[in-house]
Amino acid sequence: MQLSKMIPEVDTHTHTVISGHAWSTLTENCLAARTRGMKGLCLTEHGPAIEGGAPAYIPHSQRMLPETVEGIRVYKGVELNILDHRGTVDIPLEYLKLCEFAIASIHTHMFPERDKREENTEVYLKMLRNPYLDILGHADDPTVPCDFEAMVRTAGEEGKLLELNNNSTTAHRPGSLPSLRKYILCCKAHRQRVCVASDAHFHTMVGSVEPMMTLLEELDFPQELIVNLTKERFDNYLKERIRRIRAIPD
Ligand SMILES: [Zn+2]
Ligand SMILES: [Zn+2]
Repeated sequence: MQLSKMIPEVDTHTHTVISGHAWSTLTENCLAARTRGMKGLCLTEHGPAIEGGAPAYIPHSQRMLPETVEGIRVYKGVELNILDHRGTVDIPLEYLKLCEFAIASIHTHMFPERDKREENTEVYLKMLRNPYLDILGHADDPTVPCDFEAMVRTAGEEGKLLELNNNSTTAHRPGSLPSLRKYILCCKAHRQRVCVASDAHFHTMVGSVEPMMTLLEELDFPQELIVNLTKERFDNYLKERIRRIRAIPD
């Protein structure tokens, strides 16, 4: 089937009202996913450094949630904030360890000196080398310039993923398209695995990634590199993740 006609079975980046500036509940997001014929979503609330964001202990609190909601598998995750070039983040390791899937993101309004390309790249590489982090969020953002080749190379070495965030195709992140195309072509050239994610802040956005899928089709991106296209493939990545974490020396 053509990529532009496909919806990933698992949306790896979604927010609820708990993030403080999103508008839907977990149940509403899951119902939306079910309506679209999807099988899972990652619950990835913002860390506390974002105004009104979830508390740092959110990964602990999320353990009270059932495995599935409205028939949709809810993977308990987080989108932590990278706060500076030293790699300070807003979720302590003890809580990060409780996540099933963790995104590391730079949010431009709270990241000073983001015009420093080399330092931006280094902090992203540091995140990719942290075994408890799975993926960089919206790292194609042209307002945080960085070396895509170095990031893709390190992601490959570490067995990590890179996110293709649908908001980079929309007015939410204006001017992103040239950078996004470069990022995608770099992933394609190195056969880097990716996740296509909505970054939903409202339930109608869950799984709504048609513009990104259309762009991937146009760029002839290999379907097999999209880890969340099927739940089976995503679950296999999570098994890899568990093995990676088990191998960490005490
Ligand atoms: Zn984000
Ligand atoms: Zn987000």
